[in-house]
Parts: sequence; structure tokens; C-alpha cells
Amino acid sequence: MTLDEALAGRLRGLARAPGPLLVAGDLDGTLAPIVPRPEDARVPPATLAALERLAGAARVAVVTGRDLATARALAPVPGLEFVASHGHESSFESSLLPAPDPALAGRLEALTRSVASRFEGTALRIERKARSVAFHYRADPALAEPLRAALADLPAGVRLQAGRLVIEALPAGAGKDIALAALVERFRPRSILALGDDLTDVAMLEAARALEAEGAHGLALAVAGGAETPPEVVSAADAVVEQGQVGELLAYLAELVMGPPSP
Ligand SMILES: [Mg+2]
Repeated sequence: MTLDEALAGRLRGLARAPGPLLVAGDLDGTLAPIVPRPEDARVPPATLAALERLAGAARVAVVTGRDLATARALAPVPGLEFVASHGHESSFESSLLPAPDPALAGRLEALTRSVASRFEGTALRIERKARSVAFHYRADPALAEPLRAALADLPAGVRLQAGRLVIEALPAGAGKDIALAALVERFRPRSILALGDDLTDVAMLEAARALEAEGAHGLALAVAGGAETPPEVVSAADAVVEQGQVGELLAYLAELVMGPPSP
């Protein structure tokens, strides 16, 4: 096992805490390694297997900025729940999550076309999602400044969410703290593991830790991706784990709550 003893001890504490247990994990950079092109992202098979085992004893949710269809395709595990599009889509009904606004989709598309024409011929990658648009500048970090300038004047009802070499334009409202609140309201967990790697996840990690104050057992883990890891994510978490250890961590937790896998 490559998990350090302090982290393993925290996971044992979580497994011993009263259930039900909720495991809420971000997708890109957390369950799946970051790759140069978002369309090439994959959750490693061992991580998918661990999620499937864990879903036999806990509520397991993917909380992501990807849209719902893409998230389901990336994590095709029976029994998984999803809060996608930064809280604008989900696999279950929740009055806490905002309803779609068709007028906003038109305004977002107009913004996208204007950015696309300004950055034609550059390495900017534009990812259109069900409810939002992500502008990736991973291939040329120097595009960050001109991109921010191009996005300075936003249509009404649209907000920006910065991430690791990406800026996303999405409907205002929601966010991953609301996503976690919707999961808590729906599944009433008494212990929670939250995992995230990026600025979008900070609110979810803080919300998981805040549940301690309400009598639940919360464990918030920052998933490190080298020098890119935002310090805000580390300070919002109880402990840090390398992205390459996430599958092992989930398998260990599954074993703690389910017993060893059958041969
Ligand atoms: Mg992420």
C-alpha cells in the first residue's frame, strides 16, 4: 500500500463512523488523471472497480463540471449518482439545484462564437457542454490574459469559473457546495468523504468539513496534481493524496466497509 499511515488511519476512522456513508468525488484531476485534451480523459479501470465495490455499501456520487452524459460515459458504474455541470444537472431530483434556463443557452452560444472568432488560429480549445462552455488554454498558457479580457463583459446570468488552465462560462448559481448540499438532503449521510483537485472543489471540500459541526463525520481530501495544485484546495482539505493513489484509496475504503474482495 502506498497510502501513508496517517491517511489510512483517517480512512479507518471514516469506515468506523456511523453510516450511511457518502463518497463524493470530482472527475477530472481526481478520479481521472489530467490529460492534454479533455476528450482523452479516462478513469483507470482499477478506480472504476473500486467505485463499483464501494457503491455496494455506500452512496457514491461523481460531482463534476462535465455534463451529465459525458460524466456517465466516463464513469459507467452501476449505482453511481451524478451531480454534473457544476450542479446544473443531476441523476436525481433536487429542489436545491437550479432548473435550466433556455434563454441563457442562446446568450452563452453568442459569447462562445465571439470568443471563437477572436481566438481563431490560436491553441485555445473550446469545449461546449450541455449547460456551459469551457475555454481551455492548457496548450498555450499565455492565452490566459487575453482570454480573461475577452470574457470581461459577460451576458446577464452568466458567471465564470476558473480552473486548472481553463476558464468556464456557466449559468450563475449552483456550484459544488450546492451539489453536496443536494446529495446530503437526498441521501442523508452521517459520514462523508469528499475528494477534489481544483478551485471548483474548494466549496465542496469546505462543505464536507462543515458537516462535522452538524454531527456528521466529514473527511475532505485534496487530490494533488504536482505544481498545478491550487494552494486553496490544499488548505480546504484535511489531507492531501496524489492523483495516482485515488484508486487505491477507494479500494482500501471499499475493503474496510465491505471486507476483502472475493477471489
Ligand atoms: Mg477536477
